[in-house]
Amino acid sequence: MDEQIATLNSIIAAGSSIVFFGGAGVSTESGIPDFRSTDGLYNQRYAYSPETILSHSFFMRDTAEFFRFYRDKMLYTDARPNAAHYQLAELEARGKLKAIITQNIDGLHQLAGSQQVFELHGSVHRNFCMSCKAAYPLERVLESDRVPLCDCGGIIKPDVVLYEEPLDQEVVEGAVAAIASADVLIVGGTSLNVYPAAGLLDYFAGEQLVIINRSELPGERRATLVIQGSIGEVLLQAVL
Ligand code: ZN
Repeated sequence: MDEQIATLNSIIAAGSSIVFFGGAGVSTESGIPDFRSTDGLYNQRYAYSPETILSHSFFMRDTAEFFRFYRDKMLYTDARPNAAHYQLAELEARGKLKAIITQNIDGLHQLAGSQQVFELHGSVHRNFCMSCKAAYPLERVLESDRVPLCDCGGIIKPDVVLYEEPLDQEVVEGAVAAIASADVLIVGGTSLNVYPAAGLLDYFAGEQLVIINRSELPGERRATLVIQGSIGEVLLQAVL
């Protein structure tokens, strides 16, 4: 691992347009579990799978049950950024890192100080009335234990991309442009075969593709460096 860290350190030192693509593994190091990994109590509390409850049709059909799950499983208001978030913010402050593309919705990159963040799946911190489009902070969703309502009476919907919903085209285009102009792409905490990661990676034309993941990944042919380990710890050691 030490040799790999040293290699990553020199890749980062040589890079001038670094982009980080992160998945659920970045947030789990802040204590936010991947909602897909359900605990033993899950079946006693929910009659449907997370993928079903987090779908657009379910939201429309049983909004109250959606919000019960959402508050229980998707909101971690005490979570703080970890070393990975802070090291990436530091790289951006130095002008080396140009963008973060994340599949997470917790806003922890921004909390750590990152500016250019493309949130492919939206953010729990943005919420909009479905009727009048008024914007609300997360607090409004947390205030009651029922369906959050706008002052106009409309339902407040989190700006989070649900299953069956398309990704925000502007966000995707920004992410594609960032990847296409990157000389170093660091991928962390995501399995690369999951949509949309796989497709976005195809736009990378740079030299150095680095993959950091806790669990072993199926071989990625184009990767110049694959490190198995904690993203926070790896970046803490590699970004000096
Ligand atoms: Zn409204």
